[in-house]
Amino acid sequence: MAVQKVVKMGNPILREKSLEVKEAILSESFQKFLTNLIDTMRAANGAGIAAPQVGVLKRVFVMEMEANIRYPEKESFPLYVAINPTIEFLSNDLVDSWEGCLSIPNIRGMLKRYNHIKLSAHNIKGEKYEVDLKGFAAIVAQHELDHLNGILLIDRMDNMKTLSFQEEYEKYWM
Ligand code: ZN
Repeated sequence: MAVQKVVKMGNPILREKSLEVKEAILSESFQKFLTNLIDTMRAANGAGIAAPQVGVLKRVFVMEMEANIRYPEKESFPLYVAINPTIEFLSNDLVDSWEGCLSIPNIRGMLKRYNHIKLSAHNIKGEKYEVDLKGFAAIVAQHELDHLNGILLIDRMDNMKTLSFQEEYEKYWM
């Protein structure tokens, strides 16, 4: 297990656009990078993490939700490794989403996300897949894809009045 340091907001790398993965997904070095990304997400109790958050500008994110202490009320979903991901919105329905980010610790804010999407990507074996996601899984995928385009959750907030420290979020909004 090789947990990486998570880059925090203010580091310009979080504002850059990540590059398409063109290297061999099955190479030892790329597999190690993927394993490290998964380990880092799990160690931080994140629902997802994107490559720029460990300082790597590649179009890769991972997401997973299994009884997570940062999101005790959320429905679970299995591990997805998404290499060169794209998202298609399957409905115009928007939902309120209270989000946090490993790069913006102890902060929550509310924004709107699409409720139903199709995620297309390559998996850890390099195979192409498509998955239909709803609810929290769809939200996490949109959040992580944003990281690959240099977008943070605060950029998606229409109203900064909900920007909250974790403690106050739990007290007043949860
Ligand atoms: Zn994030």
